[in-house]
Amino acid sequence: MVRINSKPLFALLLSLFSGSALAQLNLFACEPEYAALFKELAPEANVYSATTAKQDPHQVQARPSLISKLRRADLALCAGADLEVGWLPMLQMKANNAKMRPGGDGMLFASDFIDNLDQRDSVSRFDGDVHADGNPHMHFDPYRLLQVAKGVSQALAQTDPDNSASYQANLQRFEQKWQSAISTWEQKAAPLKGTKVIAYHSSFRYLYHWLGMQQVGDLEPKPGLPPSSSHLAKLVNIAKEQQPMAILVTGYQDPRGGEWLSSRTQVPLLILPMSVSEKDGINDLFDLYDTVIDSLLAVE
Ligand SMILES: [Zn+2]
Repeated sequence: MVRINSKPLFALLLSLFSGSALAQLNLFACEPEYAALFKELAPEANVYSATTAKQDPHQVQARPSLISKLRRADLALCAGADLEVGWLPMLQMKANNAKMRPGGDGMLFASDFIDNLDQRDSVSRFDGDVHADGNPHMHFDPYRLLQVAKGVSQALAQTDPDNSASYQANLQRFEQKWQSAISTWEQKAAPLKGTKVIAYHSSFRYLYHWLGMQQVGDLEPKPGLPPSSSHLAKLVNIAKEQQPMAILVTGYQDPRGGEWLSSRTQVPLLILPMSVSEKDGINDLFDLYDTVIDSLLAVE
């Protein structure tokens, strides 16, 4: 019989069955910005994003692959405030995961951790596809995103209590890096204060709010509707009066209305990334903010 020294073996087994080796969480994000946040707060976890930066998060197909990912998820993080109202309920129902049901422990919404801008008391069906619970595209407000990070970190620790100390440490590291990035961004973006833009939808509402910019026109006549020619004609006048520095469109929006307006007004068209996209070299939230601010400064 071969005798082996049982001490190192015991230590190895212990390390396998305790702490991070045991718990590899499955984390489901509705949008890539929240997958990126999960990666900051739980770098060892399996993180999955239901959509890419090139997909419209208002309109997603509840595909079988999404259903099976949500079925196995320990925690899910979505924007909330009705952004995913067209597809997430179906996904939750089909996933049949008790934690992911409405009100379930594992289902997190960024909007629950913050106050959304532009909340409305009442919305009529004539208003188009507006967000009654406020604007859900909050990930371009770095302060609100930090509040969300704190809430998500707590939920991670509750889901995986053995590793709560490491989630706490990850949050602290992220918060330090993020705070210092905020002051760099604010200094750099100072020239954007008071500038005007025309944009597609209220996608960058929180960025304007943060940096003191103003959206003077929307390519959508009503939220969710594509630009009509009469609406574009109005925007030509607005552009002449208001002198916006750019027309902003994001990756999943049809650029044609913006291109036409740009050709008529000589206001440059900027296609800004809506989210993290490794394919485009935007690997994390820091890259995303850098890219958006640098692109705006380049035309300012
Ligand atoms: Zn929206």
